[in-house]
Amino acid sequence: MQVSNKTDIRRLSADELKTMLEKEGQPAFRTKQIFQWLWQKGANSFDQMSNLPQELRAWLNEHCVIYTLKLETTQKSDDGTIKSAFSLYDGKSIEGVLIPSLDRITACISSQVGCSLQCTFCATAQLNLQRNLSAGEIFDQVVFLNQQSNSQFHKPISNIVIMGMGEPLLNYKSVMSAINHITSPDGLGMSPRRITLSTSGIAKMIKQLADDNFACNLALSLHAADNVKRSQIMPINDSNSLEMLANALKYFYEMTHTRITYEYVLLRDFNDSMQDAKNLALFCRHTPCKVNIIEFNPVSHAPHRASTVEKTMAFIEYLQSKNIIVNMRRSRGKDIDAACGQLANKLAKKNAL
Ligand code: SAH
Repeated sequence: MQVSNKTDIRRLSADELKTMLEKEGQPAFRTKQIFQWLWQKGANSFDQMSNLPQELRAWLNEHCVIYTLKLETTQKSDDGTIKSAFSLYDGKSIEGVLIPSLDRITACISSQVGCSLQCTFCATAQLNLQRNLSAGEIFDQVVFLNQQSNSQFHKPISNIVIMGMGEPLLNYKSVMSAINHITSPDGLGMSPRRITLSTSGIAKMIKQLADDNFACNLALSLHAADNVKRSQIMPINDSNSLEMLANALKYFYEMTHTRITYEYVLLRDFNDSMQDAKNLALFCRHTPCKVNIIEFNPVSHAPHRASTVEKTMAFIEYLQSKNIIVNMRRSRGKDIDAACGQLANKLAKKNAL
């Protein structure tokens, strides 16, 4: 473990960096150069910053630190999905996943170490929350997975989903700062339309996203459109009811004009009946939306089973009959515990790359 008392340079805003450098008598253009190294080129050491004078690099080495992720293990699924475990500067671990498909390569990244929410169907819940990730640690996952995509699939990532470990809206500031660096022309320059943030539904923060002109896509993990059922599997629903969420989503839609995606994991004999489909169709009336039906991925200790093929088809057909856009999301990377809800820092047991 190497926690130091130096300044974590990627926690500084451009203004803060400028102020620090001014005190050292450095001209303003150095801020821009250093910012570019940090957030555009993904530098992980000051020694790489070849256009800075030697003395400045030495000063930075003495006073500042760049906490980068360290790749621990990589596993490849039979379907091509690649899961990577990273260790952080304080010895904690997170996971990120690269999901190749015909037309895209998606990077799934984490926002927290563990998660504070106790969704009954999700393995990450079993880790509890250990800490929030910094913007730099969220950003690094993208840089790393993009390099991995280039080396494994010979093309860069095309999409990012913030759907790994953690609840992004409970680490709002760092997630927004990371997105900013990922999308900014002074950063990685990715289009916000290619990024999706998935939330379990924190009404107040969905409104905040709207106020902050959030330009990415928003997915809500709905999983039940009935308060009693939803609270049973997602305790966060006790303080963020469906009515509060509907209200926040309407506001979000009014401000951003972005269609919401609802994620719905079909759990056998729990939320897969015709009545459940009707409730979902009613909820879909609140704003323009689409529904992603997710196959339940087995998680140890979870008291659920995947729905049957027949019920799944009937559920989807009902929604389609109500003119709702529905996609069935196949599980990816299930054999290496890389699929939705399976990220739990388990030791690599198969297919290390
Ligand atoms: N906390 C955020 C993002 C992480 S979860 C959220 O709740 O949206 C990413 C997606 O995987 C969510 O839709 C989540 O509900 C789903 N998921 C969790 N456990 C799952 C499981 N066992 N099988 C299938 N999907 C699961």
